[in-house]
Amino acid sequence: MRTKVLVIEDNEQNLYLTTFLLESAGLEVIQARDGRKGIDAAHRLTPDLILLDIQLPSMDGYAVARELRKDARLVHIHIVAVTSYAMLGDRDKAMKAGCTGYIEKPINPETFLDDIAHYLPPATRSKGAGNE
Ligand code: MN
Repeated sequence: MRTKVLVIEDNEQNLYLTTFLLESAGLEVIQARDGRKGIDAAHRLTPDLILLDIQLPSMDGYAVARELRKDARLVHIHIVAVTSYAMLGDRDKAMKAGCTGYIEKPINPETFLDDIAHYLPPATRSKGAGNE
C-alpha cells in the first residue's frame, strides 16, 4: 500500500504544488480544502502524514490539529503545520495544538521533500524518491 499524505490547504496554488511534489515522489495524496473536510478525510482514510495549513477558512489549523488528536487512531501520526506566519510564537502554538512539525511557506520545491522526509514512515523514507 502506498503512503498516504493528507494535505489540508485552501490555497489552490499551494495545494497544486504540494500535490505535484508528493505525487512525483510516489506518494498518494488526499486533498482537503478546509478543516472540516480534512478532519472527515482523516477519520475515513487514516493517512500516514498530515500537512496542515494554519490559515484556513472558518476553522483554523490549530483547531483542526486539536480535533485530529482526539481520534485515537490518529494520535501517533505526524501533523506538520504549514504556515506563512513568520512569527516565533506560531511554532509553539502549533505544537501545543498537537502538531509535531512545522514548515514555512512559501513552499520551496527544491527542499520540500527533504523537509518532510523525516515525518514520513521509515519504509517510505528508505525507498526515497528515486523510482521515477
Ligand atoms: Mn490558507
